[in-house]
Amino acid sequence: MFNFTIDKTPKKDLSNDKTYDLIVLGGGPAGLNAALYAKRKNLDVIIVANEIGGQLNNTKDVDNYLGFKAVDASRLIEAFQSHVNTFDVPTLTGVYVKEIQKSDNLFVISLSTGETLSSKTIIYTLGGNPRKLGVKGEKEFQSRGVSYCVTCDGPFFKNKVVAVIGGGNSAVDAAIDLAQIAKQVVLIQRSQLRADQSSVLKLQSLPNVQIHLETDVLSFNGQDVLKSLSLYDKHHESTIELDVDGVFVEIGNIPNSDLASEFVLRNDQKEIITNELQETKTKGFYAAGDVTSMPHKQVIIAASQGAIAALQAAIYINKGE
Ligand SMILES: Cc1cc2nc3c(=O)[nH]c(=O)nc-3n(C[C@H](O)[C@H](O)[C@H](O)COP(=O)(O)OP(=O)(O)OC[C@H]3O[C@@H](n4cnc5c(N)ncnc54)[C@H](O)[C@@H]3O)c2cc1C
Repeated sequence: MFNFTIDKTPKKDLSNDKTYDLIVLGGGPAGLNAALYAKRKNLDVIIVANEIGGQLNNTKDVDNYLGFKAVDASRLIEAFQSHVNTFDVPTLTGVYVKEIQKSDNLFVISLSTGETLSSKTIIYTLGGNPRKLGVKGEKEFQSRGVSYCVTCDGPFFKNKVVAVIGGGNSAVDAAIDLAQIAKQVVLIQRSQLRADQSSVLKLQSLPNVQIHLETDVLSFNGQDVLKSLSLYDKHHESTIELDVDGVFVEIGNIPNSDLASEFVLRNDQKEIITNELQETKTKGFYAAGDVTSMPHKQVIIAASQGAIAALQAAIYINKGE
């Protein structure tokens, strides 16, 4: 620990003519860590976010963030935010970013409040959301049996019966992972499997995996926690009641990347493509966290990408390009 003094003077001037070194868009793990690293590099930085904490607001417990065993997600958000607050980073919350433009080598952000902000660099961390099935009971049993993340919640289902919904690579890989943990895994797909052939063959070879194709999920059922799924087998035209301890919905992620489309390249799932320094095709425009094509959507990964982006933005600004 070095004993240097960091300028903690709040700079909360939001007037139109001020130019920030950096605007961090998003206040999830990626954005908060980006702001922390940027401020410690003495950048004049502001965070703009609809809601601090991002997707962590949608879950109860986090069991895999280093240094925090089985922590309540809201406590993790508080810990992140209070750490950032010690550096007095100005933060605009409860606002939406509406548009990003570039003018005279500066980025100009239009907000839902009608204000605009300008900066030399942007770190874009608007995240995303897991795609939902949208059937009865799904929302009610989220975090009480229904999960969207095997890496996050798989270990809670050791020796239990779980279902995985979906037929793409992420669903098949999730089912393969879960087969090492759970007693039984049932993969449910409304049509045919779309995953890579090698993954499908691996899945089919596992003794504790059952595959139901051409099967729709009708509802998630239970009392306090999820107990069963109601399914419709389209091939046999019959309904099935499947008892489960947990369900993993693995039907994709919806990244909030549209606002960046002019400045970045995106893959076919609309995730932003960056290099290993979180740079995009536009100089001074970085992206980090779940909005990127990084396949592992995790708090620690989003936070570390935010740090990389901030360090890179500091180098870019100090070079005065
Ligand atoms: C139910 C659930 C459980 C999870 N459990 C775990 C777990 O146990 N462990 C783990 O490591 N990971 C877990 N994750 C994944 C983890 O939450 C994400 O990987 C992480 O939050 C990604 O951080 P991020 O900063 O990239 O994006 P996000 O968390 O998505 O944050 C995006 C930010 O952008 C803001 N934003 C979006 N659009 C706009 C806009 N137009 N204008 C202004 N602001 C905007 C949001 O308000 C938010 O502040 C879970 C995810 C879910 C959904």
